[in-house]
Amino acid sequence: MKFVSRQPREGINVSDTHPLVEAGTLVAGLTAIFLLFAVVLIFLIDLALYFVPPDKEAALFRDWLPDDLVTVSPADTRLDETQRVLDRMAFHWGDAPYAFRLEIDASELANAMALPGGLIVVTEGLLAQVESENELAFVLGHELGHYRNRDHLRALGRGIVFSVVLAAVTGDDASNLGINVADLALRSFSRKQELAADEFGLELVYTNYGHVNEAWRLFDRWDDGDRSLLDIVSYTSTHPQPGNRVDSLEQLARDRGWPTSGPVTALSW
Ligand SMILES: [Zn+2]
Repeated sequence: MKFVSRQPREGINVSDTHPLVEAGTLVAGLTAIFLLFAVVLIFLIDLALYFVPPDKEAALFRDWLPDDLVTVSPADTRLDETQRVLDRMAFHWGDAPYAFRLEIDASELANAMALPGGLIVVTEGLLAQVESENELAFVLGHELGHYRNRDHLRALGRGIVFSVVLAAVTGDDASNLGINVADLALRSFSRKQELAADEFGLELVYTNYGHVNEAWRLFDRWDDGDRSLLDIVSYTSTHPQPGNRVDSLEQLARDRGWPTSGPVTALSW
């Protein structure tokens, strides 16, 4: 019997589905994979942080300072006064698992950062802009809010978070982790994290002073274009925009019934 090869039917390589539908399915599939990946990553970081509870983190970073931090003289009176305001804010966070330390970065660019282990860094540029203790108290209270939600560790980035876990488990030295102020000054938090930190910070201010007068006056001035953009760009690129922030803080104070008038405390510098 002779074998007769048959030709494949016409159009065997042409799909019956419209190309746009196929492209749509591909995009939807890739988006789903990407979202799944992002969710798994967030879960992994949360899982990692579970192995570094705050007390372990505080022990790992005790006395630690980032290599690239240029601090002001230890005799600088702004250090004691800012630490005192920070201690008062932290006192109202009843069971804070950190002993908060404050350092002043000798940088002209206004910024404030929450670093691992309870180290809060504010810049000389920021201190030059605050005009009352109440303004400073809110900036510090906001950073405390990042510790409460442990945003400060997530902001380190995946690679460093896993190195921190490794160091915590092996008892390694925090100085080998390569955490730099220069990198952290560029990292921002999500809008949700910022709002939660603002809410926590404002509550500490209210608890301490019995009112929230001047808590956000610094951002009011910035929104009015009072300062050169260059001086405040570091802070405003890693925190909410001053105008929106003032609106949401005013709303928050209204919702919670926190008085917006009351005696303001002066700074000594
Ligand atoms: Zn923040």
